[in-house]
Amino acid sequence: GWRSRAAFKLTEIDDRLHVIRDGARVIDLGAAPGGWVQVALKRGATAVAGVDLLPIEPITGAELIEGDFTDPGVGERLLELLGGPPDLVLSDMAHNTVGHRKTDHMKIVLLIEAAADFAITYLKPGGSFVTKAFQGADLGDLKNRLRAEFETVKFVKPEASRKDSSEVFMVALNKR
Ligand code: SAM
Repeated sequence: GWRSRAAFKLTEIDDRLHVIRDGARVIDLGAAPGGWVQVALKRGATAVAGVDLLPIEPITGAELIEGDFTDPGVGERLLELLGGPPDLVLSDMAHNTVGHRKTDHMKIVLLIEAAADFAITYLKPGGSFVTKAFQGADLGDLKNRLRAEFETVKFVKPEASRKDSSEVFMVALNKR
């Protein structure tokens, strides 16, 4: 079975937009407990490297490390473990909210930006990027950057995502 409910969200995103290609090399940010890793491998990825603040039970076919993605060197370590540039960068990273709206909002945006910077820098041409985002998050500048770097940028609200949450996924397809 899937390790997380989040697995159903990536399944829906992939059903709609076909982000996981056969033979894809995938980097997964905020990967614990490993649901997205399972989905990526099941749908044809041949190599997955993932990181989380929390330890992740091993999954055959994946290199999973414990660490903070925003720490220096962690992104490079993932590229090393993958053995080359990714075709797909996934980020489902979310921090524990502190309940202070402005602070939480700022943290969310920083995580999304860190993931996007990494994707823009290292994805192969033609590659794609999926990130958790939030309705109402002020992503103005980032959206424009992604639109410049990728052919298409879409937002998806999966059925599996709670209706009352502001969670949406931003999907950038076909890096130029
Ligand atoms: N996609 C995962 C799955 O299907 O199993 C679920 C991911 S969960 C919604 C979000 C994860 O992001 C948490 O496990 C959290 O520890 C991780 N996270 C938050 N900030 C992070 C950071 N700076 N570096 C690495 N992981 C982070």
